Amino acid sequence: MFLSLVMKGCKNDEEIVAVIAHELGHWKLNHTMYSFIAVHILTSFQFGGYMLVRNSTDLFRSFGFDTQPVLIGLIIFQHTVIPFQHLVSFGLNLVSRSFEFQADAFTKKLGYGSSLRACLVKLQEESLSAMNTDQWYSAYQYYYPPFVERLAALDEADKKEE
Ligand SMILES: [Zn+2]
Repeated sequence: MFLSLVMKGCKNDEEIVAVIAHELGHWKLNHTMYSFIAVHILTSFQFGGYMLVRNSTDLFRSFGFDTQPVLIGLIIFQHTVIPFQHLVSFGLNLVSRSFEFQADAFTKKLGYGSSLRACLVKLQEESLSAMNTDQWYSAYQYYYPPFVERLAALDEADKKEE
């Protein structure tokens, strides 16, 4: 994910190593395994939930159906779980953002904090994405922390070390 972006902007050897260190941080801190498990648990809940309601005549009747077509049942189920999906998405965003900060801290611990910072600046210049969004908005909407929050976290780590 992050590694593919680096090919566009961060061509300096130190910056590329910093990005690889970031990705290794995800591996070392078991983020990949946690994400894999979370996706499988959520998928199981989704299919399990559908299995529970797919034969519910009340559900189909409440939407005006006398028969129970499978595709209609799936569509009704997907619409009924939208509020739950928003909560799950918010939770996943919080976890994902936490993982990104942890991987950045791992990179910094290996001595590539300034290179990572330089690479993030280049990526931000190229992507022109929102630099500093409201923290609550970004916490709810963004899977990855915005540029300013990542730099602030790297700076905060600097202050703690001083
Ligand atoms: Zn990452």
